[in-house]
Amino acid sequence: MFGLIGHLTSLEHAQSVARDLGYPEYADQGLDFWCSAPPQIVDTITVTSATGQQIEGRYVESCFLPEMLATRRIKAATRKIINAMAHAQKHGINITALGGFSSIIFENFNLQQIQQVRNIKLEFERFTTGNTHTAYIICRQVEQASKQLGIDLGQATVAVCGATGDIGSAVCRWLNARADVAELLLVARNQERLQDLQGELGRGKVMGLEEALPEADIVVWVASMPKGVEIDYGALKQPCLMVDGGYPKNMANLIQHPGIYVLNGGIVEHSLDIDWRIMRIVNMDVPARQLFACFAESMLLEFEKLYTNFSWGRNQITLEKMDLIGQVSVKHGFRPLLLSGV
Ligand code: NDP
Repeated sequence: MFGLIGHLTSLEHAQSVARDLGYPEYADQGLDFWCSAPPQIVDTITVTSATGQQIEGRYVESCFLPEMLATRRIKAATRKIINAMAHAQKHGINITALGGFSSIIFENFNLQQIQQVRNIKLEFERFTTGNTHTAYIICRQVEQASKQLGIDLGQATVAVCGATGDIGSAVCRWLNARADVAELLLVARNQERLQDLQGELGRGKVMGLEEALPEADIVVWVASMPKGVEIDYGALKQPCLMVDGGYPKNMANLIQHPGIYVLNGGIVEHSLDIDWRIMRIVNMDVPARQLFACFAESMLLEFEKLYTNFSWGRNQITLEKMDLIGQVSVKHGFRPLLLSGV
């Protein structure tokens, strides 16, 4: 059995979902209530592979909300993730993806030190961040959506916002070695990590977001921002492809603007319907078919009976591992979400 540990994008989102799912006692509560709410299994999932194989999974809602980080409720945030992991393990789940901020909190606050949760000794090999598949899918989206728009990668400037992160650094490695883009702009806040990445790649310009945006033909958004940034669309090149892989989204203002193409990044489409409620709740356009690539990674590991923390730690995603997860992704019927109507 596979598992998905997820969370909602804001307190407002959580309140409306609680109402929809029939938990009225959660719907009118403020952040303090969510800080003390325990994890819950809220969905039972059956997925059929393109090969015909069927697997079963559970969605575990951790009750973490990004506002907990913004308001420095760090203890609550870390407790949410550790308790959700213990909950998944207690229910016999073999491999569970830590979606969105779950793995970021796990890494940033060194949660591997907390192995004992009440009577459960966490077995970390039962968990994966899902970031290898996410990075692979974002790279394929860049390659394929740029073709849809007639942007030649060999001539293109690609800015990666969140370049030094786990997903961002893997995307940079791929764009450097496989896609051979003309120019890579590396955007993040910590200058030392940016210099290290530039050293590893042997190329790339370190830039602030404001100066990078007007130069980019393509922007990959993979920064761990609890709230999105406002973009001045008028300052961008046309055409410009924006692949926003953030959860919550990195771009706050999603307006229609001529020549600007925004693609939901790190999202896969399955070739068969999945019977579940959870993707409707996170507002996917086609909830029965579309899902986060990190969640799909735990499905792939379950299909392949690869019970190992395939994606773990930080900045260790190799091109070989991206190739491997990419092959099984195609085999089981997943494909990167692309632009529609172009
Ligand atoms: P990491 O914590 O590993 O990396 C985050 C990166 O963002 C770092 O480079 C960090 O550098 C940078 N960053 C953070 N804040 C800012 C800012 N204000 N301006 C510019 N750069 C910033 O995160 P992950 O790689 O694990 O995840 C990245 C994003 O992808 C998150 O939003 C996450 O929720 C989402 N995600 C999406 C998935 C999917 O399936 N679609 C799956 C998993 C994650 P610095 O701190 O130096 O600025």
